[in-house]
Amino acid sequence: MTKKGNFICITKLPTRMEFLEKTDELMKESALSLCMISMDIRNFHFYNKWHGRAQGDALLGAVSDYLNDFIKGTNMVAGYLGGDNFSIVMEQDKAMEDRVIKGLDELVSRYAGDDKAISAAFGGYKFNGEDISASDVYDYTVDALGRVRNKMGAEIFWNVDASIKSREKEMRLIPNILKALVNKEFCFYVQPKCNIKNGKIIGGEALVRWVKPDGSLVSPGIFVPVMEEHGLITRLDCFIWEQVCLNMKNWIEEDLPVVPMSVNVSRIDINQLDVADEFIRLIRKYEIPASCIEIEITESAYMDDDYLLLNTIDKLHRHGFKVLIDDFGSGYSSLNMLKDTQADVLKLDMKLLSDAESNEKKSTSILESILEMSRQIRVPAIIEGLETPKQLKIMSNLGCEFAQGFYFYKPMPASEYEELLRDPLKVGNSEEGRVVLQKSHLQQFSDYFIKAANVDIITGHYEFIKKDEMHNQVNQPEAATIFEYIDRFAELGLVHPDDLFDYRILFNTNVLLSLIEKGHKNILKHFRYKVDGAYKWATFEIMVPPEYGDDNHIVLMTWKNADYSVSLVHEYEKLVTENFSKIAKVNLDTKKYEMLHVSKIEKVDSDFEEEGEFDDFANFVTIEKVAPEDTEKFKEFADIEKFKEHFRNSDEKINVRYNRIMDGEKMPTVMEATKSASYTDTNPEILLYVRRGRMEHKED
Ligand code: C2E
Ligand code: MG
Ligand code: MG
Repeated sequence: MTKKGNFICITKLPTRMEFLEKTDELMKESALSLCMISMDIRNFHFYNKWHGRAQGDALLGAVSDYLNDFIKGTNMVAGYLGGDNFSIVMEQDKAMEDRVIKGLDELVSRYAGDDKAISAAFGGYKFNGEDISASDVYDYTVDALGRVRNKMGAEIFWNVDASIKSREKEMRLIPNILKALVNKEFCFYVQPKCNIKNGKIIGGEALVRWVKPDGSLVSPGIFVPVMEEHGLITRLDCFIWEQVCLNMKNWIEEDLPVVPMSVNVSRIDINQLDVADEFIRLIRKYEIPASCIEIEITESAYMDDDYLLLNTIDKLHRHGFKVLIDDFGSGYSSLNMLKDTQADVLKLDMKLLSDAESNEKKSTSILESILEMSRQIRVPAIIEGLETPKQLKIMSNLGCEFAQGFYFYKPMPASEYEELLRDPLKVGNSEEGRVVLQKSHLQQFSDYFIKAANVDIITGHYEFIKKDEMHNQVNQPEAATIFEYIDRFAELGLVHPDDLFDYRILFNTNVLLSLIEKGHKNILKHFRYKVDGAYKWATFEIMVPPEYGDDNHIVLMTWKNADYSVSLVHEYEKLVTENFSKIAKVNLDTKKYEMLHVSKIEKVDSDFEEEGEFDDFANFVTIEKVAPEDTEKFKEFADIEKFKEHFRNSDEKINVRYNRIMDGEKMPTVMEATKSASYTDTNPEILLYVRRGRMEHKED
């Protein structure tokens, strides 16, 4: 550091005054076309905060050294303009311009490391002997910087005369905007989102409008970008979000159908405040469910490795909000970004649609592949800007389910939208809108599913849609069929020994076919898998899709983390299994029974039915298995009429002790009958169960 006047200088470069003077001189001398490039370090104050002032100074020092080296031996001028601002003036030369920009960008990135929010921004102005001062030129570059400061990337913005003029217009707009904010001249309009098939409303989008005192409307296209650049948008957005929540609360209170309303969130909002916290605060304040507010973030806000945005989306998801990617397909990054973003809905940019009308073949196939992909990843899509019957036809032919556009409705004041909600014919029931209303499948997948696969239960052919670490290890080399795959877990000891029996039984073509034939659409089982040395409950579910049939035997198999209650139920089950070999609920009037529990040994041992007629105990115990000396005693006890008689007058349970023959051995056994919790005189239900007993003479 050097001392200069009464400033402590971090850099060896000329400071503001000196730089401007030198530039003025150069402008006078040089007959060539010149340009000035100014640099600003985005979020530099955070850099200072996170890494310490000394490190911040080191970064500024490094930039200064770089520029000093760069201009050495040339007629270029570089300067440190204070704060985190540097400028360089040189002849217009694309290669040189690119070089200095690239060099500075790399330098700042190196210092920033993983902090992607810290990066270099560049604004420039090219001039050619005009009658302007260095100070004016500098102002134009600063102005240009304003255009990129809130963006990412090192691409330079060159200020040109036209943009300076429009810029001046904008500058005149700012005081008016500020006044309008104070006077609350902003409100939101709502544009309904519709089901393409029947035009019914499945949601709305809140769009800000500036209503001037004379009643004229200003469209957000004019003031939103200006407000974004000047850091004013967040104030406006917070105001709009709050208005939306307030309206939502009123509509819910009035019992109007609650279809979700989406709001627009600017990238600047995400930089400036904890957007998730703000929405959490709002839904608490207005006591509305998170599911009724959806968040639209425009595609261009998504950048590589953008932890701030990804964290925000993640937090929103954890609190039940859905996130829509707005203007999807307008940028080059569209497809790439999808794999990283947990989007719930894609809002397809209206440009895709207008292109589709003019250049039908190509654009239609682009739309088609986007829609196909949205189905593959199970994220629903809605098309924006649908205006004409022809476009409607194109989109419904492509299988697009939802649309927002003038064809259905133009944006309207909230009061008009409210009127629409009152008309049951205009609002889609939640069933029809399900895809959008529910948490998207993709979301469900990552939240709950450990693994999921489409499986042909006849051939065993399988295709995993989601895999986990264990899968990757076990399925090496790849199993030929799902049955081989399932067996591997058992063979490697990854399934709890007590669950092996059920596990093996379930994953069997015949068992699955018969369950499905009986009409089961969801087959649920819980198994314990060994994870990091300990057993964890996982819920295994087979879902039979509507397309399942004679020539399509593909089902969806999923593995989910079982929650605590499942573990609890299994503790009970364990106790029951250890103590009872069979439990049935019997209705003494109808003589129908329902098996509540059958232990595994019994399952192998006897032919039993889950439910049926209680016919002389035939389905409950096999009389041949009662030791011959106990047969009389057993038959005397096992009489339904006697049970009826007994329980009509008593709450006491009754039992019989006998020896059962199992594998040639005598097993002391107790059969007991007791009133069920649901027993009434008109519904005389009892529980009948068999448990292991001790030798009779040892009992009290
Ligand atoms: P967006 O979020 O993509 O909103 C859709 C825009 O398309 C709206 O323009 C809407 O009026 C227009 N639109 C809908 N259907 C049709 C159609 O069939 N044909 C045509 N030509 N246009 C249609 P609007 O209201 O002028 O908003 C423009 C943009 O301003 C929005 O684009 C959004 O990016 C931004 N914006 C709107 N409200 C807000 C807000 O509250 N906060 C922020 N940060 N940005 C907002
Ligand atoms: Mg939008
Ligand atoms: Mg949009």
